[in-house]
Amino acid sequence: MTRFIPRPRKEYLRQQKETHGRHLFGVFPAQYPREILWAMNALPVEIWDPPLEVIHANAHLQPYICSVVRLGLELILQGHGNRMDGFLFPHTCDSIQNLASIVNDYLGLSKPCYFFYHPKAPYRPSSRLFYLQQLKDLTANLEGQLGPMDLKELKRRVEQGQKIAACLGELYRLRRDGKLLVSNQEFYQVIRQGEYLHPDDFLPLLHEFLESSRGESRAGPRLILSGVLPNPPEILTLLDELAVRVADDDFLSCSRRLLVTPSEKEDPFEALMETYFAMAPCTTKDSPLEERIRYLKSKIRKSGARGMIFYMVKYCEPELFDVPQVVKELKNEGVATLVLDTELNQGLSGQMRTRVEAFVEMIG
Ligand code: SF4
Repeated sequence: MTRFIPRPRKEYLRQQKETHGRHLFGVFPAQYPREILWAMNALPVEIWDPPLEVIHANAHLQPYICSVVRLGLELILQGHGNRMDGFLFPHTCDSIQNLASIVNDYLGLSKPCYFFYHPKAPYRPSSRLFYLQQLKDLTANLEGQLGPMDLKELKRRVEQGQKIAACLGELYRLRRDGKLLVSNQEFYQVIRQGEYLHPDDFLPLLHEFLESSRGESRAGPRLILSGVLPNPPEILTLLDELAVRVADDDFLSCSRRLLVTPSEKEDPFEALMETYFAMAPCTTKDSPLEERIRYLKSKIRKSGARGMIFYMVKYCEPELFDVPQVVKELKNEGVATLVLDTELNQGLSGQMRTRVEAFVEMIG
């Protein structure tokens, strides 16, 4: 049991709609300008790993597709997206792009679908102009459904987004430095609530979590988790049982997109643009491998971690392209590595548990 159990998502979303008159948008992974939606009184509800049994989605997909896409499509096919007022598909990878096309072009959904194309590396001055235009185009498209954007409200929401990033940054720093007294399970249970809570609710939750969790962390080996998201969550429970502290992460759903540097730009669109280009290197942005390796080595150095677990979503192409090289480079530096292939919500097999236990024994 933890102190910050998430509120039931269904009930929360119903309340958001009925009490605050907010439009709900199902948003697929990973990076998108949530501040634009907040400013238009819309709530982004991210779809990463809905806890569903796959019944219908396989008929529309090839067998070698990641379970983020499989579960996202299943959610729509089972009708759980009916309460949404629209969907947003960022161009994260080919798999999400294909999903966008299935949903928008073939399923005959009576919901508006929006698309957001962020530029991929290597970045040039034109990439910035392109991103800025994408932000403005998305806003203009949403205005057709949600009414005109209030730029003052956008500025306010951009500032709120920066406060959330600062609070998350502080939580990550304290955890890395051994000054946060929380379990691995609780840490991710709290920060992942940002995937659907409105910022007016998420920011106070983060503050409360931060203030009530300051304290000396338990001693024990430290490691870093890398991958798309902390699912199956059983790895966190297992690491807690083994008294291992996750000192940092390199998850696409967490630090790679959440820990952003604040921008001083007056114009909210420019501030959003600057923030995007200052994000951590990521496989889904085609960041150069050397940049990622440098970034991961610096995380290891700063956290004093003895090893890194690559907690892979099976068939995630962007991640799989990088992992062999990254593992090789880290091994050359004497960092222990473990690569686990997982399916979302499927728990840890006995064999995986044994491999994690052996790895922890080695780094301990
Ligand atoms: S980034 Fe990987 S896990 Fe995420 S949708 Fe794309 S292929 Fe699937």
